[in-house]
Amino acid sequence: MTEQSDTRIFSINQGDANMRIASAISELHLRYRDLSEGTVADYIPELSKVDPNLFAISVVTTDGNQYTVGDDGHVFTMQSLANPFVFGMVLDALGREHVRQFVGVEPTGNPFNAIVLDRATNRPMNPMVNAGAIAVTGLIPGDNPTDRLNRLLATFGRYIGKEPNVDIDVFMSEKSTGDRNRSIAYLMRNFGTLTRDIDEVLDQYFQQCSISVTCRDLACMAATLAAGGVNPHTGERAISRTALRDVLTIMYTCGLYESSGTWVHGVGIPAKSGVGGGLFAVVPGKMGIAIFSPRLDKQGNSVRGVRVCTDLARLLNLHLFVAGSETGFDDPCKDWHDAAANHGS
Ligand code: GLN
Repeated sequence: MTEQSDTRIFSINQGDANMRIASAISELHLRYRDLSEGTVADYIPELSKVDPNLFAISVVTTDGNQYTVGDDGHVFTMQSLANPFVFGMVLDALGREHVRQFVGVEPTGNPFNAIVLDRATNRPMNPMVNAGAIAVTGLIPGDNPTDRLNRLLATFGRYIGKEPNVDIDVFMSEKSTGDRNRSIAYLMRNFGTLTRDIDEVLDQYFQQCSISVTCRDLACMAATLAAGGVNPHTGERAISRTALRDVLTIMYTCGLYESSGTWVHGVGIPAKSGVGGGLFAVVPGKMGIAIFSPRLDKQGNSVRGVRVCTDLARLLNLHLFVAGSETGFDDPCKDWHDAAANHGS
């Protein structure tokens, strides 16, 4: 499903910093267009049908400008990209103290689908990996499964600007092969973390993983997180500032599974990946970045997604601890970077 699939740059209201974004994503799309490292996820059979060469980069700034290149209209499923948004929704509905009784905030160092709980607490380690995400899904308020799904889609709709669809084929494919997630769910029920009907919670989890977006949609979702929780295109609030703080913090420390340390070291901004090939990153106060490229590394992160973000962070000085002035992308550590580059590191 592709709304359009061309290579182009679209931008409006170009200022100086905005021109830099446009030329950076265009350059990086060219740089990585022919990179074919990694493999498409196939443990969910429906995901293996995707064209591995698809590649899009989209940026939405907090003032609503949009820059986009490549297959930005191709529709793909969110998979774990949904986790931070569901976590935020549940935080807003139930409050931090309640949610913390069911899920921790520690990086795991384990694969995203590990059948592991925190030894000390018997809770899942964090809401970004499958165990934590399933526990959080089990907390979504509502009268019945349909009501809960509708609330979920309405929430995602506020981030995107329109309600998304659930890809039924991916949902069915994941449901029929999801025994690993089923094992995690039973383990959590044993420890009292999951109290609702297991099949119902898992169905809802598989549905949220199967929510379909384009790379442009994903950049708008990321930009909403960057803009204090308000969608820069519609002006609608999608998440409270209080919940946003927790969501970005956990994305920062746990968003790329066992590569999270390498990520914050190299890129230094909150991000999340999904096995559908999407990856998004948030530059608070400035922009949301989304990449879609289905070939994954061994940790399940989009290979081109990681490369693009790493280079973009450097080109635009996005790392939170070298982030530039309020007005642009000046780099206070430029001399260090140049020295490091000259020494080949
Ligand atoms: N739906 C996938 C799963 O549960 C999500 C994993 C991911 O995107 N990392 O295995």
